[in-house]
Amino acid sequence: MKVLKFGGTSVANAHNINLVKNIVVTANGNKTIVVVSAFGGVTDQLLQTAKLAASNDKSYRTILNEIEERHLTTIKELIPIHSQSKVLSIVKSELNSLETLLEGAYLIEETTPQLLDKIVSYGESLSSYIISEYFITDGLNAIHKDSRELIKTDESHGKAMVDFELTNSNCRDFFSNSSNEIIILGGFISSSKKGNPTTLGRGGSDYTAAIIAGAIDAEILEIWTDVSGMYTANPKIVKQAKPIPLISYEEAMELSHFGAKVLYPPSIQPVFSKGISINIKNTFDPQHPGTFITKNPSSKEESVRGISHVEHISLLSIEGPGMVGIYGISKRFFEVLSLAEISVVLITQASSEHSICVGVSILDADRAVKALNTSFEYEISQGKIKPIIVEEDLSIIALVGDNMKNHQGLSGKMFSTLGKNNVNIRAIAQGASERNISAVINTNDVKKALNALHEEFFEENIKQLNLFVMGVGNVGSKFLNQIKQQKKYLKDNLKLNLRVIGISNSRTMYFDENGISLNSWENLLPTGEKADKAKFFDTINTLNYRNSIFVDNTASHEVSETYNKYLKNSISVVTCNKIACSSEYKNYKNLKELARQYNAPFLFETNVGAGLPIIDTLKHLIASGDRILKIQAVLSGSLNFVFNNFNDETTFHDVVKQAQEEGYTEPDPKIDLSGIDVMRKILILARESGNQLDIDDIENQPFLPQESLDTKNNKDFFASLKKYEDDFQKMYSDAVKNDSKLKYVAQFENGKASVGLQQIPKGHDFYNLEGSDNIVLFYTERYPNQPMIIKGAGAGADVTASGIFADIIRIGNF
Ligand code: ADP
Ligand code: ASP
Ligand code: MG
Repeated sequence: MKVLKFGGTSVANAHNINLVKNIVVTANGNKTIVVVSAFGGVTDQLLQTAKLAASNDKSYRTILNEIEERHLTTIKELIPIHSQSKVLSIVKSELNSLETLLEGAYLIEETTPQLLDKIVSYGESLSSYIISEYFITDGLNAIHKDSRELIKTDESHGKAMVDFELTNSNCRDFFSNSSNEIIILGGFISSSKKGNPTTLGRGGSDYTAAIIAGAIDAEILEIWTDVSGMYTANPKIVKQAKPIPLISYEEAMELSHFGAKVLYPPSIQPVFSKGISINIKNTFDPQHPGTFITKNPSSKEESVRGISHVEHISLLSIEGPGMVGIYGISKRFFEVLSLAEISVVLITQASSEHSICVGVSILDADRAVKALNTSFEYEISQGKIKPIIVEEDLSIIALVGDNMKNHQGLSGKMFSTLGKNNVNIRAIAQGASERNISAVINTNDVKKALNALHEEFFEENIKQLNLFVMGVGNVGSKFLNQIKQQKKYLKDNLKLNLRVIGISNSRTMYFDENGISLNSWENLLPTGEKADKAKFFDTINTLNYRNSIFVDNTASHEVSETYNKYLKNSISVVTCNKIACSSEYKNYKNLKELARQYNAPFLFETNVGAGLPIIDTLKHLIASGDRILKIQAVLSGSLNFVFNNFNDETTFHDVVKQAQEEGYTEPDPKIDLSGIDVMRKILILARESGNQLDIDDIENQPFLPQESLDTKNNKDFFASLKKYEDDFQKMYSDAVKNDSKLKYVAQFENGKASVGLQQIPKGHDFYNLEGSDNIVLFYTERYPNQPMIIKGAGAGADVTASGIFADIIRIGNF
């Protein structure tokens, strides 16, 4: 005999019930027992009608009408017209009785647990009856059985205790004597020995099926639901979760106890004791093998089998000097909770015995606190124990696996993963069986924590990086394009999964939690909401994704002022905007500190030399113990362009004009020509080499005449360049006379930085610098005479974008 249970979604409507029939027909047992839930959502609706009626709210009738409509429509869709009338009239009469019960609750403005059980029982009693009539009229050898006649319980309404002796013997008698091939029963519902309707707790249809399977020694228990098995994590929260092919009873029990709703926890016991396997399968994908829950499944699988979580947890702690070494405090503590019928989900006690901490359902928290404070009233009044401390809005996440005990370092990995993602851990528990490691965390961190842990333990180390990009102009659009091209490569080769979740320009911003399509972001962005820097941050912070990265491709001062907020919330920052790192030293230092403190990288490789690995190299030199003696560099692509093209056949004015027109300079070319941009760059290099420097400490010998520097607009600026052409020509001819070329050089040595135009003699590393190339010479203790040289294109949107990209990959490997 086989027992098949179909959940609420599987029987939600006529179409689904038809799928159920096909599955039952192909089950091929000599006898098939079919346990069904109420039509999906009906149990919730019934509870709601009761609640409304008891609070004297007439709108319960609207919901009741919906329930009626749903059942009648399903009958009409399933059962041929000529057989409908009997079924319709029986169901209508049942619904009338339900209405009478609700009217009673409405009049006396009250429901009792006993009445609630009566009301809620209609869900399964109606669904099982309708499905059985459908099977029968369709020609199957089927019969309906009221499970309340078989499953016997005590009188604890809402979640009754099963009397197994009586129930098992009822089941054996009934099923061995029944001659039908298919027997259909409602799950969840039962009755007390006195004959009152009772129920087995929410999700209890699984339990009904397991009880029957255990009683009759079924060959298998199949739980048919809306997902393809028990997953490595809740598939609604973790998109990458996968069905677990094989799992032990103990593991399944732990996972379901810690929130894997797909199986009601008590359901395992009745089949476990008989060694009957459970197969969890998907009604909507019947070919999928689903999950097998068995004894000793092969365990060469992962050490962690699944991750689950329970929400709505409160932590209660008892602590105080009076607890140390006093015998029996924990005994009393747990006795009080047990007498108050409070189930404890998690326990931790520090070995100092200074405190005991338990996790209970939020619904039990008030009662527990009252009971404990009353019981320890004397000790509290004596100051030996503090009043119970309560923390709310918490959840438990648990790693589960029989094999975890054989693997070292799992808890280390778990906690460091949570730590890296800035998930605050409030309490920890590890069972002595080492089948479960649990941590209590804030509920709003659950999604992030589950995904981060899942990635760590199940996803072949594929790490998801969630990008939020501000500034999608020249550099930004190139950057998005590069991601589009490299996405697959990164996933296959570096195990990095890059998703762009948010983008913004100065007008609009656009978010898509599933990742913005990089083929159509240009069309999507204008459809987004109005751009707002504060809201951009708030959205990222509320999404609370692991590995979130804010990418600043703007040159905006205001945007650079938001970095601290990102870092403080463990959101990494990658930027090509130089403003923050060349602002006041205090601010630069603070951002670096925040990055360290909150485990959120702050990377700005493109601040110097675009995509050239200058800052990264510097960091590696220092980290490996080298010391920077001197930095000499040509760091301005714009100035290089100007001096490489300026000679006695051109005019300085025309070359600068050309540089401006071709986009080699800022729109205001004075920013480049005055040396400000180069000052910022050498300042950043000096700081990154460990020196405390500010922009005012940098010596700048301008080559422009004061009059040009003082101009207020581009027109006057260019006019002044014309006026001083002779001076510029003299600078050029002086250099030629000395067999030299003009280069704008930045230098840092002995704590002092300077920038200025220099004559570079033939043979010098800078002499042959082409186009807009940059070059940096690092003289260090290890490279004292022959410097380490980094040279290459130091400007341009493409190389800058690739530098940003490189920073993102650094974070991925972090
Ligand atoms: P049914 O109505 O068939 O009994 P339930 O809603 O009770 O179905 O349980 C199935 C649901 O359990 C899934 O749709 C899924 O959202 C949820 N769930 C939570 N954790 C897990 C998990 N680890 N594996 C599979 N499903 C899970
Ligand atoms: N219908 C009941 C519930 O929704 C029992 C079940 O579906 O398992 O809780
Ligand atoms: Mg269920």
